[in-house]
Amino acid sequence: MKIHKSSSSLKEALLPFITNRKTIGFVPTMGALHIGHVSLVEQANIENDCVVVSIFVNPTQFDNPNDLLKYPRTIENDIDHLKRFSKNIFIFSPSALDLYNHDISSKSYNFSGIESEMEGKHRIGHFDGVGTVLNLFFRIVKPNKAYLGEKDFQQLQIVKKLVEIENLPIKIIGCPIIREKTGLAMSSRNKRLNIEQLSEAILIYKTLLKVKENFKLLSISKLNQLVEKEFKNHNYLTLEYFEIADTETLKTAIYKSKKKKYRAFIACFIGGVRLIDNMALN
Ligand code: AMP
Repeated sequence: MKIHKSSSSLKEALLPFITNRKTIGFVPTMGALHIGHVSLVEQANIENDCVVVSIFVNPTQFDNPNDLLKYPRTIENDIDHLKRFSKNIFIFSPSALDLYNHDISSKSYNFSGIESEMEGKHRIGHFDGVGTVLNLFFRIVKPNKAYLGEKDFQQLQIVKKLVEIENLPIKIIGCPIIREKTGLAMSSRNKRLNIEQLSEAILIYKTLLKVKENFKLLSISKLNQLVEKEFKNHNYLTLEYFEIADTETLKTAIYKSKKKKYRAFIACFIGGVRLIDNMALN
């Protein structure tokens, strides 16, 4: 397994696959890999002749310089995670200069309003950064399919729009959220939590489950109140937002319609670490 640090080196390695019309699966990541990431690689590995895993902490999608600075970087451990895939796995870990070709800035996208909801409201410019970097990656890797986790559900919907906007022939595959035994969604950011914080963070999953259990019984405003109460005056967790949103548009739901699908979304802070999670409700 070779690590490609430049786009020219990766393109050269992929050329035989492209020439022989083999399929390429792509798993974009920011590294600090865990079993959640590995599940995406597993699916890509089953469905394609080769898989590219990118490891790149993208500066243009961080609105908070401290978050970017503190983002865990564990390349040796990442390589270990990928060793279980014996062949045809390419790690692509370029420098920002190589990837962005010296212009490290975001394009401005209109993702039909999805970019202005939830994460878009709280992380200004985040989805322009995500769209820009994935557009660059997609044009270098030229995958048939790209695999993204439902853990970042809004991002998944954004990337589906991105390939439409950029007219790229790539199928975007959404993969289920992988959780710890406790229910906490696996995340690279969990590495920044101590044992006590890890155990308190389970409240996120428990709250989502409670919302799901009560979804048929309670109105949206009652469900919102229920969540606020769970987080109010909590010693460790500070709620940034809770929303029940339409799965397609990600617009905040005010009342329930039988014809629509909904998901519950939570963003919160624990000891300065920002965690997000979500769950399908119906
Ligand atoms: P990240 O490295 O956090 O940017 O994540 C890279 C990809 O892995 C994204 O598509 C995430 O949605 C996905 N991912 C992260 N955590 C999980 C998880 N617990 N379960 C499934 N997919 C995940």
